[in-house]
Amino acid sequence: MAGKPAKLKHVPQRTCIGCRTVLAKRTLTRVVRQADGVFIDPSGKMNGRGAYLHNQKSCWEHGLKGALANALKVALTTEDRQRLEIYMASLPKESASETDAQA
Ligand SMILES: [Zn+2]
Repeated sequence: MAGKPAKLKHVPQRTCIGCRTVLAKRTLTRVVRQADGVFIDPSGKMNGRGAYLHNQKSCWEHGLKGALANALKVALTTEDRQRLEIYMASLPKESASETDAQA
């Protein structure tokens, strides 16, 4: 009788398009491209092409500079930008605990 392989707990991982760090999906915020624009998707369940960003201002700034448009293969409209900037404004500037590992 062949033993069943132990089931490893699978933690989905995604790459932050701002800093290219691979992290557990739950620590990232999903941004999704819809027919009528680019939206924040806190539930992670919206349909459409998605990209992931850290909850870190620097990553969002980088994303808004072009990484996000690249990842979603779409040009950000003024409205998209405003929406993302409002979200970005609520984020902490740096997360000290997460930059430690890279320094
Ligand atoms: Zn990042």
